[in-house]
Amino acid sequence: MPRTFPQPQQEDLHDNGEGPADYDYDLFVIGAGSGGVRASRTAAGFGARVGICELPYSPISSESTGGIGGTCVLRGCVPKKILVYGSAFSGEFQDAREFGWNINGDITFDWKRLIANKTNEITRLNGVYRKLLTGSKVDMYEGGGKIVDPHTVEVQETDGKSKRFTTKRILVATGGRAVLLNIPGKELAITSDEGLSLEEFPKRVVIAGGGYIAVEFAGIYSGMGAKVDLFYRKPYPLTGFDEEMRAVVASNLEGRGIHCHPETNLKKLEKVAGGIKVTTDKDEVFEADAVMFATGRKPSTKNIGLESVGVELDQVGAIKVDEYSRTNVPSIWAIGDVTNRINLTPVALMEGTCFAKTEFAGTPMKPNYENVASAVFCQPPLSVVGLTEDQAVKEAKGDILVFSSSFNPMKNTISGRKEKTVMKLIVDADTDKVLGAAMVGPDAAEIIQGVAIALKCGATKAQFDATVGIHPTAAEELVTMRTPTRRVNPKGEVVKA
Ligand code: NDP
Repeated sequence: MPRTFPQPQQEDLHDNGEGPADYDYDLFVIGAGSGGVRASRTAAGFGARVGICELPYSPISSESTGGIGGTCVLRGCVPKKILVYGSAFSGEFQDAREFGWNINGDITFDWKRLIANKTNEITRLNGVYRKLLTGSKVDMYEGGGKIVDPHTVEVQETDGKSKRFTTKRILVATGGRAVLLNIPGKELAITSDEGLSLEEFPKRVVIAGGGYIAVEFAGIYSGMGAKVDLFYRKPYPLTGFDEEMRAVVASNLEGRGIHCHPETNLKKLEKVAGGIKVTTDKDEVFEADAVMFATGRKPSTKNIGLESVGVELDQVGAIKVDEYSRTNVPSIWAIGDVTNRINLTPVALMEGTCFAKTEFAGTPMKPNYENVASAVFCQPPLSVVGLTEDQAVKEAKGDILVFSSSFNPMKNTISGRKEKTVMKLIVDADTDKVLGAAMVGPDAAEIIQGVAIALKCGATKAQFDATVGIHPTAAEELVTMRTPTRRVNPKGEVVKA
């Protein structure tokens, strides 16, 4: 039975009261990744009749494969973190010796066993997500979804048959796919999709890119014993992150045995007897068993009928949306990486929740992109929340105070590992508000998540100072940094230490 929903109170309602009452669905979602699943389950929880479609499951995505759970669960965050856990043991084995452990005999690493266990886990999660959808009374269809008109979606199922559904609203949540560098021999390269599922462990790896994926995979393969060469086009990896932290990450990558090649691009790949010959733009030559392109991702907007109904895309091909995730077509919304706002799973979840609450619970809600924390799972990890120093200089009205601390973590004093933990707080000198926090060091992501709550509450430095530390931890350093390292004026000049 068609039903009505409480109407949002915001102006410029998006097609809520119009159209025939006999649509098959109140909402049809294309794409069952993190955002699509969250939006459909939340909408169904408010009583909406919801259908969702997704391509058949495969660990490696393509035009015809995907899977319920999406990139994060099947080919991203989850399997990546499993491999990060796996690779981190080598460092633990090294550190264990000075703690009294005699590690005698061979310690060997079985890539195939880890990959099999990883694949079992993501297959389990794929099933869990399927159950979450059916348990929420969301109708699930396996196949590619295509928008036929503003109120009709066609699902092309794997058996070649197709079904059409009419729907009051369409939500596009198709995510993104890796971009390949356009160089000769590019077909020899892999992306992170394949990198998580290689049959044989690559003993020599070349990685192009200096973003999240590049530094995370460099750490994974290197920790497992591979020789890793990492090529990025800037002086440091992780463009957009705090400059000081980028330098620390680069030094840690080198410290862990990764060969960093700043300001160097790959020029050509060739198949040779022993593997892949890699030539750089400096005409250096390397040989590798695997070459990974980790040079960004682009929104998946092809073959879903967006052109046929005139959904507008931006200059990078992402779906243009307003602050309520509305496209220019009144019955169509989009969330997650396909909109290229902040491409992180928790952000897609927030966008999906806001969409469902706005449209089906009568509670207009815009996603809030302030103080979104994130982590790069290089080893040790980097985690940040709020503004970088450079951003704070630009955005704060007056001077900013930078508090930073670089210290030898207690564990390293015994293990002998040469790797500093670095922390940083950026404070508005006039208001005392903490504008940003960053940390490179063990457990950084776990620590910064708590700091993110403080920043979300608008915490001041005085409140950080009044917080009693937990001893002995690295985290207590965040509440004991008393003296500013520098004061920076809005021109970016250091005015007082
Ligand atoms: P990023 O955008 O993080 O990094 C892309 C990298 O590729 C940059 O170093 C960029 O260089 C480089 N690059 C782009 N084009 C070229 C080119 N033509 N030649 C040479 N280098 C190039 O993308 P990723 O692929 O690492 O990750 C995609 C997204 O996935 C991230 O933005 C993030 O949102 C998400 N993600 C999040 C993770 C997490 O939360 N831990 C983990 C993994 C992914 P430059 O810096 O010079 O622009």
